[in-house]
Amino acid sequence: MKDKEEKKESALHISKGKSVESNINQNFKRKKRRQRTLQEFLEGILDGNRVVLSQAITLIESTQSQHQALAQQIIEACLPYSGKSLRIGLTGTPGVGKSTFIDSFGQVIINENRQLAVLAIDPSSQLTRGSILGDKTRMETLSVHPNAFIRPSAAGASLGGVARKTRESIILCEAAGFDTIIIETVGVGQSETAVHSMVDFFLLLLLPNSGDELQGIKRGVMEMADLIAINKADGDALPAAKLAKRQCRNGLHLFPPKASNWIATTELCSALNQTGLDRIWQHILSFQNQTTLNGYFQKHRQEQAKYWLEESIQQQLKQLFYQHPSIKNTFTTIERQVVAGQLSPFKAAELLMHSFQEKKSL
Ligand code: GDP
Repeated sequence: MKDKEEKKESALHISKGKSVESNINQNFKRKKRRQRTLQEFLEGILDGNRVVLSQAITLIESTQSQHQALAQQIIEACLPYSGKSLRIGLTGTPGVGKSTFIDSFGQVIINENRQLAVLAIDPSSQLTRGSILGDKTRMETLSVHPNAFIRPSAAGASLGGVARKTRESIILCEAAGFDTIIIETVGVGQSETAVHSMVDFFLLLLLPNSGDELQGIKRGVMEMADLIAINKADGDALPAAKLAKRQCRNGLHLFPPKASNWIATTELCSALNQTGLDRIWQHILSFQNQTTLNGYFQKHRQEQAKYWLEESIQQQLKQLFYQHPSIKNTFTTIERQVVAGQLSPFKAAELLMHSFQEKKSL
């Protein structure tokens, strides 16, 4: 008895609790659940509404089929309003200063009365289940600027998947009025190739001590670059940065001329002190002028569109194949036989294709 009374007086007893349902605005709940219509998405995006744009990109990133279907309709609807931006790819190893650079360089772009969208492709997000590029606090000034829009990449998807979604997000950003788009990626592997396939200009950031085997940056990545900027060219690192610039320039001479006829250059900059950034911007504008005049700008975009058509077909075919009931049923068994050496991979592929085609025509 005494025990019971003590419990009542104590603040530590478990109360039955009160329903909070009544405190929630029912209209708000309903509003949150209702999906915008295609028309609403289109109007919002064309109006430059960031919230609607963000939600549409979330649909693009969603794996749910009804979201995907709506996303594809939104992309289609936005397509006539897209294509008018200058797309810049930016890559460099972690720590080279990409986010600091975008934060500072973004100011240069915005000061030109431009609207800037920053999208990120982060292949490491697969492993970390979180985007290291996505953190908006990495670009403190830009993330609060009304003329800038920063969007992290979808975590957990494959590189091909993220790249495709980024490519689709570009279309929406352009329809929303962004005339300059930066696609950022960590320079650690194939992601540069994916970025290269969706941008007009490719910018590689290097550190001042880049003599050391060019910091593991692959030859191919250097070859893709339209401009190499040696970042952190400040303080004690300035002499090393100047040396790196010379080394890069010599290295660039070894590559064959580009299809764009553009001669890749090297620049020094300090994202931290905001120096050298104007010169980089001027190079990008010269590139745009030159390649527009010689027809490469448009031709390159057309080639990229062809590439993405092929990519999409391959992806969709693959999906169709693996999701097919007869493949789902037999794949593991056949794969086991291949691993055990009882069946050659080629014969196995032939058998699977056969069963896929047979069932398809039924
Ligand atoms: P990211 O991983 O490539 O995005 O690199 P961050 O932008 O996060 O920069 C990594 C570190 O380098 C941070 O501590 C920055 O403050 C520093 N950093 C970036 N740019 C410069 C620069 O131009 N000069 C100097 N001295 N440090 C810089």
